[in-house]
Amino acid sequence: MDESHKDQIFICYRRDDSAWVTGRLYDRLVQRFGEGSVFKDIDSIPLGTNFKQHINSVLEQCSVVVVVIGDKWIDKRLNDPRDHVRIEIESALQRDIPVIPLLVQNATMPHEQSLPESLRELHYRNGIPINNDPHFHVDMNRLIKSLETILLQKRLTVPEPIRKRLTWLPSIPQKRIILFVGSIFFITVTVIILINWKRVTGGSPTLNEPRFAESPTPAPTNTTLSPAPTSTTPSDDIGENQSIATVLPESGIGYVTNNRGPSGKFQFGLASTINAIQDLGRAWASRGVQVRLVGSGPVRYRDVPISIGQISLKGGGPMPPRRNHRDGREFDIRPIRTDGQNASVTISDAVYSRDLTKELVSLLKSLFPQAQIKFNDSDLVTQGLTTFGQGFHDHIHVRLP
Ligand SMILES: [Zn+2]
Repeated sequence: MDESHKDQIFICYRRDDSAWVTGRLYDRLVQRFGEGSVFKDIDSIPLGTNFKQHINSVLEQCSVVVVVIGDKWIDKRLNDPRDHVRIEIESALQRDIPVIPLLVQNATMPHEQSLPESLRELHYRNGIPINNDPHFHVDMNRLIKSLETILLQKRLTVPEPIRKRLTWLPSIPQKRIILFVGSIFFITVTVIILINWKRVTGGSPTLNEPRFAESPTPAPTNTTLSPAPTSTTPSDDIGENQSIATVLPESGIGYVTNNRGPSGKFQFGLASTINAIQDLGRAWASRGVQVRLVGSGPVRYRDVPISIGQISLKGGGPMPPRRNHRDGREFDIRPIRTDGQNASVTISDAVYSRDLTKELVSLLKSLFPQAQIKFNDSDLVTQGLTTFGQGFHDHIHVRLP
């Protein structure tokens, strides 16, 4: 597959609902990202091909899907499994790529109940309103900024070929930012090359295997969606690391634990990491304001403790099936639930609280600005709070510097 076509933007729309505004929107996106980067026309689907297969192969080339929702978008056609809009959104959600609802013609976000089961997750994605003139261009600028962020983050997860993939960047006025991002890229690529070279010489597993995937599911064929190795990768041939010897107590101010293992087996870390987690818990608990949960009155933040998952084994070492969590600097946090329970939750569950989870991530970022945070809520990704990666739909993965 030609790598240069993997960062397309897919526009999903209904012709009789939003053809005109979609045309205008398409023009703005093409002006910004180039003709080859925006896919819109369902007319281009060859007759006689399997529509679902075709959509899937197109989405494989796409990094983000925007769904144009007008006032006639909710339609009985959505109940038909062969409806192209339905197939497109289903495929995008299944592929776990960011989906941004665009609300045009004063449309509002469709109610969960008005969507077929397979599309309900859409309701939880934050929509961006695109109003008519005189607001159209301002709204479009906002959308374009979000898309730039998403595409840039996608690019940062793809090791090569860099220059080819950054063709649209030079039109951004802040050339210094480009230089900065470029140098981070260069460092990352260098490290990846070194690591891969080491793996080849060490007879390690195949290069296509996502090093940092936390889910035991097999790697997708589209490696664009795999999380990229970071420049601070722990070594493969890790020995006993004496400094990974501090265990996180089972609970403390503002936090509880999960996936702890017998005697905290999975929650050892560097002393600095354990301190950081406890600081985070204290900062969370010390918020004076109250939070409103579903099914109860207002409660205090410390009554909705954050839930810390695995960190590292004592002394480091492999934690299969994951390839990270080996150097005592990484830990997982459960997303916050609207019922405040310490139980697993994914971004598509009804009990997932985007607001509280976003607060948590913002707090994390303010305390540890250098931390790398992976989590797949497209809203948080869009806002630059987290980055996207394979398997990070049910936990926030944090890497401290
Ligand atoms: Zn993790």
